[in-house]
Amino acid sequence: MQSVEEGHALGLVLSQMSKLGDGRKLKVGIDIDDTVADVSSVVKLVLEERHGFDFTLSGRKFDWSASGVRDKHFIDVYNELWAEDGLRIRPMLSAGSYKELVSKTDFTFVSARSDESTNGLYKWLERHYGKEVKVAIVEPRPYDMHGMRKLEQGYDILVDDSPHVAATMSHELAKNRALLLVDKWEEAIGRRHAPNTAVVENVEHAARIIFEAHRLSQKPIEKDSTGFLIV
Ligand SMILES: [Mg+2]
Repeated sequence: MQSVEEGHALGLVLSQMSKLGDGRKLKVGIDIDDTVADVSSVVKLVLEERHGFDFTLSGRKFDWSASGVRDKHFIDVYNELWAEDGLRIRPMLSAGSYKELVSKTDFTFVSARSDESTNGLYKWLERHYGKEVKVAIVEPRPYDMHGMRKLEQGYDILVDDSPHVAATMSHELAKNRALLLVDKWEEAIGRRHAPNTAVVENVEHAARIIFEAHRLSQKPIEKDSTGFLIV
């Protein structure tokens, strides 16, 4: 059964589709880290093994500060994982859903990252999704600006797990954009700051909603002999 939040997500995608015109496809951008690439769970394992951090001390799922983890610990392991071409990082978007996104939408992966982790990402994407993959890399600094940088790419629909991106959705630049916020954080609904944001369970859920909106928008409009719409 469709939840209220899922209905909101579908409504957002349909509303973005209704503004398209001229046969333009829906422009979709999907974030990489912790949306498509399951990276934080591997960072966590390495930090446990290497430094003995106790993650049971953490409060929220992705707030590790109570365990003593600092940004530098995270970044060092993160860069190390991408330097080995992300071999330990699991993709969360299936190859089938990727292909369907490419055929039905104007699709790009989007990631805010520095040079240290970019080459490894290209190899990871090629390994999982092929040579033709399109990816937009935006400047990651300052950290709270990366959402704006992603919005500047002009996506009709952005799929992202970042609360910083969610916080930018009430900005003027986001006026004609919509966000499907992946529910990485327990309090994600509380991070839905603007009506152009809906919370989804994961990237496959976001893809299913986009495909459903596409299917509904392809339905021929039925008219009777007098030209009136049949509803
Ligand atoms: Mg992310």
